[in-house]
Amino acid sequence: MFQFLLLGLLAGAGAWGTEYFENYYNEIDVDDEQAEVKTRNAMSSPRQLWPSTRIYYRIASDCSPEEVANVHTALATFNEQSCLQFEELTGPAPPGSRYVYYKKSEKLCGTRIGYNPLPVFGSGSHDVLLSPKCMAVPGIIQHETLHLLGLYHEQSRPDRDDHVVIDYDNIPRKYWPQFMATSSSTTTTYDVPYDFESVMHYPKNAFATDPSKPTIRALVDGVPMEREMGQTVGPTEGDLFKIRKMYKCDLTA
Ligand SMILES: [Zn+2]
Repeated sequence: MFQFLLLGLLAGAGAWGTEYFENYYNEIDVDDEQAEVKTRNAMSSPRQLWPSTRIYYRIASDCSPEEVANVHTALATFNEQSCLQFEELTGPAPPGSRYVYYKKSEKLCGTRIGYNPLPVFGSGSHDVLLSPKCMAVPGIIQHETLHLLGLYHEQSRPDRDDHVVIDYDNIPRKYWPQFMATSSSTTTTYDVPYDFESVMHYPKNAFATDPSKPTIRALVDGVPMEREMGQTVGPTEGDLFKIRKMYKCDLTA
């Protein structure tokens, strides 16, 4: 618990420390007082790119063969459909490099947004926390991986108010920061149309006090309408396009 409290405080205090903890399967109890700290995020952080398209990673040794296979499946999508190359470490990380560390967590799923610059002379891990339920779904592992590559949630886009309405009456006040939009001065949509199917979109009842009612509704001709949104199958073409643009992949290939 202390570790996450500390992470949360650092995320709130640090200019670079935007950190998301997900609420898949409602594993974060909306009545948990500490959850506010766990889920805080700062929206002022500029997007930070990894310095190379070759990204090293490691999977915690206490993961089951199925969980290891799910991480491999998740990352194969990026290796096959973008110019990124995730490469599993079999020994120590090369000096001066940061690597992604997929590790188990009892309940939390989450990671930091974007690349965390290394201290001078430093090296180290970029942790992705995955509960057993999150570890069981390659689409969720991909969601977290897209965060660390630099993507925010789709419903946080600067232009989201043209596409969705947030029903704050059904969201505990301490979770309102989860529904803030990012600024167009720090994030870009790469002109990708708003994507309700994005693997980065919250479901319609995320963080709901009453999960039978939506917290996010779609604007259809200016009228708020309930509809399905988000999914955990995997990245959409729009999600992948953003990554290809961010990392300057050859878009004609
Ligand atoms: Zn997320």
